Amino acid sequence: MLNTVKSEELYKIALDLMPGGVNSPVRAFGAVGRNPLFIDHAKGSYVYDVDGNKFIDYVCSWGPGILGHSHPEVLEEVVKACFDGLTFGAPTGKENQLAQLVQECVPSMEMMRMVSSGTEATMSAIRAARGFTGRDKIIKFKGCYHGHSDGLLVQAGSAALTQSVPDSSGVPASFAEQTLVALYNDKDSVRELFENNKDQIAALIVEPVAANMGVVIPDDDFLPFLREITEENGTILIFDEVITGFRLGVGGAQEWFGIKPDLSTFGKIVGGGMPMAIYGGRRDIMKNISPTGKVYQAGTLSGNPIATTAGIKTLEILRDHPELYTKIEANTKKLAEAYKVRAEKQGIAIHVNQIGSLMSAFFTGENVKDYAGATSSDTKAYADYFNYMLENGIYVAPSQFEAMFISAAHSDEDIQRTIDVLTK
Ligand code: PMP
Repeated sequence: MLNTVKSEELYKIALDLMPGGVNSPVRAFGAVGRNPLFIDHAKGSYVYDVDGNKFIDYVCSWGPGILGHSHPEVLEEVVKACFDGLTFGAPTGKENQLAQLVQECVPSMEMMRMVSSGTEATMSAIRAARGFTGRDKIIKFKGCYHGHSDGLLVQAGSAALTQSVPDSSGVPASFAEQTLVALYNDKDSVRELFENNKDQIAALIVEPVAANMGVVIPDDDFLPFLREITEENGTILIFDEVITGFRLGVGGAQEWFGIKPDLSTFGKIVGGGMPMAIYGGRRDIMKNISPTGKVYQAGTLSGNPIATTAGIKTLEILRDHPELYTKIEANTKKLAEAYKVRAEKQGIAIHVNQIGSLMSAFFTGENVKDYAGATSSDTKAYADYFNYMLENGIYVAPSQFEAMFISAAHSDEDIQRTIDVLTK
């Protein structure tokens, strides 16, 4: 049994200070029936908790840590930048540098805005699309997550195609009504919404690879279909690449699948571990953002000099070392195989979805292609697996419905150790 005395002490104090003792719900470990570990520090592929336990980390801060923790080159630049000032609220050359790098990697980003979280990026991209089209409604997919802004916290039940209800209390029903919900990988559900809401849909937002119901891969014709139907209807296609951006290669999902969205959102990796996100795309849409246009959007810490520094160094390393992607993908495939072996050995059903360095092992016998497939998983079996891994020094996502994140810092030994634990 893990010694978690200090984590428990901190958790007790935190419970009184923050809802659930945490600053973001998934950290509370509620889905896996144990109290959260409090982290002391992290280096490379490892996180260390306050009790001195060391874990191979497959959460990687939910995606930013593609180079592993505390990458020495990123750290060096960040520390240097700190001595020049932490924030100015004024433009810097570094913002140009990061924007140019993003443009180089993702050519659809003709013009962009930096913000501080993925939530802000998607919320602002939708406002930009509404401002540009003069329409109010949007389409999202059940099981896709785009941050916690009011209109995007709508996932809805199976009657969702006609009725949109908020997922969270505190979201006015009148906001949620503007959000139409379609089913991932289900073209008919999208067609129906367009037919029933002619000339009213400002934007369709999608995670090109869904990674917030676990990883769900688009069918070959799904994204091309979304590109086509949005174009036909004068609707802005938004790729939410907060997870896929700079992870499925430097060009993200849009490069991987060869589809050019109108707008895109990036977060996580683009800030190299600091609060930074970006939205952008077509120049004719983006130039409507204030101060040049009438769509208002602003931020005191936007384009923060430390965050841009971390982002620049991270993207430079990724751009200059394509072999890192080859390595991460190969390791992800090895892990995917190990889950299949585990399933066989234990006589349980596991379905693995893997693309690039994104992967989920679903505890279900179904072929997971959508929300219904993902939620057919046995979450109790997942919790048992999570606890087993943790007790064996391996930290995976504390929820069935999160991706497994593999980084360039995971060594052959880390991967082998993980395979050994999985297949024991
Ligand atoms: N979009 C996607 C696809 C995400 O995965 C997330 C967060 N996991 C967000 C948006 C929101 O980003 P943030 O948590 O930085 O607000």
